[in-house]
Amino acid sequence: MTTIGENIRAIRERMERAARAAGRNPEDILLVGASKMNSADACREAIAAGIDALGENRVQEMAAKLEQGAYTGAPLHFIGHLQRNKVRQVVGRVELIHSAGSLELLEEIDRQAGRRGLVQDVLLEVNIGGEESKSGFSAQELYPSAERARTFSHIRVRGLMTIPPVEREPHGNLPYFVKVSQLYVDISGDLYDNGFKYLSMGMSDDFEDAIAAGATMIRVGSAIFGHRQY
Ligand SMILES: *Cc1c(COP(=O)(O)O)cnc(C)c1O
Repeated sequence: MTTIGENIRAIRERMERAARAAGRNPEDILLVGASKMNSADACREAIAAGIDALGENRVQEMAAKLEQGAYTGAPLHFIGHLQRNKVRQVVGRVELIHSAGSLELLEEIDRQAGRRGLVQDVLLEVNIGGEESKSGFSAQELYPSAERARTFSHIRVRGLMTIPPVEREPHGNLPYFVKVSQLYVDISGDLYDNGFKYLSMGMSDDFEDAIAAGATMIRVGSAIFGHRQY
């Protein structure tokens, strides 16, 4: 069995190859470890191996691991589905929320950040496959929502995030990544003075295609930590 550190080094090499193949600078792409269902020790190992950030999915698990000091030394992100009534427990505790996928959620993030007197960095989540089961803005809703998101004084939108539909064919997600990348460029240019920084897309099985399409942040779980035991 390979160690977490070895896995991270191997992924970095693959990231670098994918970036160069796309004519991009590998340093422009951040590796976020999706550490759900992995222990505080596993998180520390990833940090020691130089992971750029850790991303959690569940508020309760994150709170428990925060108490154990799991994230000391790396930025913490929230990447999972976020319920309105849990926003309070996330705002101000993470550097970036990847999963801001509705105006109601943005309103609540703004309210909670305001109460704490801070500005919360978020990404707008795009439901690019238009799937019923997934949260996020549809491609049609995204532009007007991004326009509205500018008006919240306690939120700073840093970019977009997407989780494409599960595809069985190799490279099946590439067209979705390309679409989101176009939305990213358009919205950043039209509405945010080209100030977007993060395009969060790509996971263990498809991060190279995401990098080819322009991802600046990939979220990798099983390829770093091994298969999750549910
Ligand atoms: C679990 C998870 C990942 C990582 O998935 P892997 O296939 O294990 O790499 C990425 N993003 C989100 C939102 C996740 O929940």
